[in-house]
Amino acid sequence: MLFSSISKSKHMDIYDKKKRSEIMSRIRGTDTKPEIMVRRILHSRGYRFRLHRNDLPGNPDIVLPRYKAAIFVHGCFWHHHEGCLKSKLPKTNVKFWRDKILQNVERDRKNITKLTSLGWRVLIVWECETRRDHLNEKLVEFLHSNGRPQSEFEGTSHIATDTNIRNR
Ligand SMILES: [Zn+2]
Repeated sequence: MLFSSISKSKHMDIYDKKKRSEIMSRIRGTDTKPEIMVRRILHSRGYRFRLHRNDLPGNPDIVLPRYKAAIFVHGCFWHHHEGCLKSKLPKTNVKFWRDKILQNVERDRKNITKLTSLGWRVLIVWECETRRDHLNEKLVEFLHSNGRPQSEFEGTSHIATDTNIRNR
């Protein structure tokens, strides 16, 4: 089921071999382009954040302690961005890749569950989401979705909870 939406895609061959092998060989780096973009946006809007906190489940790429918010910037292939062209499996060694990716997906799921149970809110930013205005909107919406004020500096120090209803 997980991969079914991909196989129906009409645009499966969007990548040539070179691009594909580039994606395959990419190890999850600490400074991927979308991650830098997310950091720039947060920084420019005055948010304070910490990077790669290894004391939290899954080592979230970006953590905003004040918002109790953890952000993962995920590669579409390795973390299987469902329905995304970049998550398409290669035609060879299908079982190997499928098992590998499913393992990642399962690990991500567990980490998110752990984080959530610790009171963190989790946002996944996908590698393919590189449009700045889109990211901007997504980040702000996420950070303020539990009733947090629009500006980092207008905030009070009370701890909002996940039970706060989002008002839009
Ligand atoms: Zn994607």
